Amino acid sequence: MHHTMHIQLDKQSCTGCQLCFSSCVFGAICGAEYPDIDIEKCTLCGVCMDSCPSDALSLYQPQTIQTSSPVVDGDAIWVLVEIHNQTIAPVVLELIGEATRLSTQFKVSKTVCAVVMGEVDEPNGKLLTAYGADLILCIIQPSMNQLFEEHASAALTFLASTFHPSVIMVGATSFGRAVSARTASLLYTGLTADCTELRVDAVTQNLLQIRPAFSGNLMATIETPHHRPQMATIRQGVMKLIIPDYNRLMNIKQVRMENDLPMIHATMLANIAVQATQSITSSDVIVAGGKGMQQAANFQYLHQLASILGGQVAGSRVAVDNGWIGYDCQVGQTGKTVSPSLYIACGISGQIQHVAAISGAQTIIAINCDPDAPIFRYAHYGIVGKVEEILPQLIASLQQIV
Ligand SMILES: Cc1cc2nc3c(=O)[nH]c(=O)nc-3n(C[C@H](O)[C@H](O)[C@H](O)COP(=O)(O)OP(=O)(O)OC[C@H]3O[C@@H](n4cnc5c(N)ncnc54)[C@H](O)[C@@H]3O)c2cc1C
Repeated sequence: MHHTMHIQLDKQSCTGCQLCFSSCVFGAICGAEYPDIDIEKCTLCGVCMDSCPSDALSLYQPQTIQTSSPVVDGDAIWVLVEIHNQTIAPVVLELIGEATRLSTQFKVSKTVCAVVMGEVDEPNGKLLTAYGADLILCIIQPSMNQLFEEHASAALTFLASTFHPSVIMVGATSFGRAVSARTASLLYTGLTADCTELRVDAVTQNLLQIRPAFSGNLMATIETPHHRPQMATIRQGVMKLIIPDYNRLMNIKQVRMENDLPMIHATMLANIAVQATQSITSSDVIVAGGKGMQQAANFQYLHQLASILGGQVAGSRVAVDNGWIGYDCQVGQTGKTVSPSLYIACGISGQIQHVAAISGAQTIIAINCDPDAPIFRYAHYGIVGKVEEILPQLIASLQQIV
């Protein structure tokens, strides 16, 4: 008998029809006659319960849900601030804007709070305030190295268990992913990664954390009804910035953390700033190439077109795997989510893992030699033809105009 949540069988009701065996796409149900559920493989998706004509399968939920501390639903939405070389990561400002929108969806609106590891300088304080932070909470711990994820998560955990925020939003950067996962585990709460939409349930007041599931084939809405805080990570480019208001009053609160920080088994040898290239996520025009570009040399057309339009070149995963463009320029589920004004897809078929990341683009133009390519279902304008013929003509015509 397992004491965690699992699918349980009522042998009295089970007729041994075995319909549930084939309903499970994870291969978690087998057995000679009656279903035997492998809890290692079971994802608790519940499809087997729906498939059972005699309602013999049900979800076992432990009566008492263990929490490390009493659950308090606070009156604030927090955004974790990530700063590198005095520069705030752009996703942070987007999340603060989203927090201001969410705040008004609660029956009693919540305070939007930017959480900074260490002190914040005045320009950054003003920026966070202008983009919607009502309060900037700075955590001070003299031995803290804010670049160490273990330190940041210990500090965030300490703050959250002291002030009980209702929601913590974190940018889905490599730092944010690591800190949020550690913090959620330390706080014994849930975490939804890579949300594409956040809403508040009007009745329960729970945060609805919406994200693509099953390779983008359906949208899942995830809630954290029994635990607080409700934690979500969001990628850059998914949420829209609000119009900054530099007249807002800056409100900073410093909190000293007396607790010891965890031992770090790594040593920081140097912090080297990498020459930043403009990220495709902040580009207003993107010219992307896929397998249909056929070879690296053909990417020169994309670079020419992008340079005329003042944009950036990006690629599908196939283009990246082929080495035609770097991974930091990959658009898609395992790459970046983009929302430019103009997205030109050249020789890209339009698989869900790619197009799920361009739904925020205002205008999509597709060039593909196959008139039935799925990309044309998402494109506002389509050109049927070979990229090696269309692109030189397009570049020549634009050169005459621009
Ligand atoms: C878990 C998972 C995550 C993934 N993550 C990503 C991701 O982040 N990003 C991503 O892009 N993919 C991702 N994929 C892969 C995705 O499923 C597709 O395989 C990929 O997007 C296809 O890339 P493509 O469109 O360049 O190639 P293809 O699907 O091969 O399409 C090439 C297209 O080019 C056209 N074409 C061929 N020759 C020409 C020509 N001469 N002129 C014009 N058109 C031409 C063809 O008609 C075709 O439509 C992921 C897959 C999985 C399973």
